[in-house]
Amino acid sequence: MSAPTEPQPSTSTTSSSTAMKAPSSIQVNPQRAAVLVQNLSAIQSRIASTLSSLPSPQSARQVRLVAVSKLKPASDILSLHSPPPSDAPTAVDGHQHFGENYVQELLEKSRLLPRTIKWHFIGGLQSNKCAQLAREVEGLWAVESVDSEKKAGLLDKGRGERNQRLHKEFGDEWKAECERHGWQDKLRVFIQVNTSGEESKSGLEPGSAELVSLAKLIRSESSCPNLHLQGLMTIGAIARSRATTKETENEDFITLRTTRDKIAEEIGLTNKEELELSMGMSEDFESAVRLGSDEVRVGSTIFGERPAKKDAKVIEDTETEKK
Ligand SMILES: *Cc1c(COP(=O)(O)O)cnc(C)c1O
Repeated sequence: MSAPTEPQPSTSTTSSSTAMKAPSSIQVNPQRAAVLVQNLSAIQSRIASTLSSLPSPQSARQVRLVAVSKLKPASDILSLHSPPPSDAPTAVDGHQHFGENYVQELLEKSRLLPRTIKWHFIGGLQSNKCAQLAREVEGLWAVESVDSEKKAGLLDKGRGERNQRLHKEFGDEWKAECERHGWQDKLRVFIQVNTSGEESKSGLEPGSAELVSLAKLIRSESSCPNLHLQGLMTIGAIARSRATTKETENEDFITLRTTRDKIAEEIGLTNKEELELSMGMSEDFESAVRLGSDEVRVGSTIFGERPAKKDAKVIEDTETEKK
């Protein structure tokens, strides 16, 4: 490498009362960062132009973009969260929402990276990892793959323990302290729905009684005081996203929206849109936005192809490490 490395933007606005490995141990390559920033802005423009093609009031909606960084190095995340200064006009001003699929990888990244990142766990959820996930990932913003009462209960327990720890750390001001970081006391959860009916996909069946009772349990202040039901999530069938055109919209997304409307009614929400729809990925996010998505989860179109899991590294090898 010939170019001098820019100093990392300071992250000292976050609390210094908890020891954290400085993100300066993560090397951001300015060329790579410029490409990622450009890719992310391109997705944001495509979301904006899809929204503007809709009739009002839909055109005025906000769609959250979760950048899915699974199996990608921490430096890629830092490149988007704290982009190095550049002359190019950019729509990316410190991206906040990142999605991860593996608990160990998320734990490691959340310890290395700034506390201001809003993490989304979107991967297959194992019961034996739920409490740890909710307890130890400080900036965990949402868990999107909840599909059983048992897992909801364990996430609630873990989040409660995380809140107790913060209470101990910050005293009676702990809620105000959380707000300063952009953290909430309740953990947002999405229930995963298997809209395509494929055996390989997790999630509850769209019309099932289980889905309604899980939604009620999560919203119950006595059963899950530390959870907030944010909405429903689906992945959908790849074949359907490939077949999607403006004329034939994606059936999975229609199913998720219909399911949301039904659940909202069953749990007595007057505004059904209080329950969000998390749907749309690289191949199909524009269709999802047309069908009412509140959140799209886009990975490979921003970060490029993912390595095999066994080859993925949170911290990349650098030239200097070689003797
Ligand atoms: C990997 C993943 C994504 C992102 O997929 P891309 O096709 O790379 O955009 C979105 N949602 C979930 C649940 C995922 O596992």
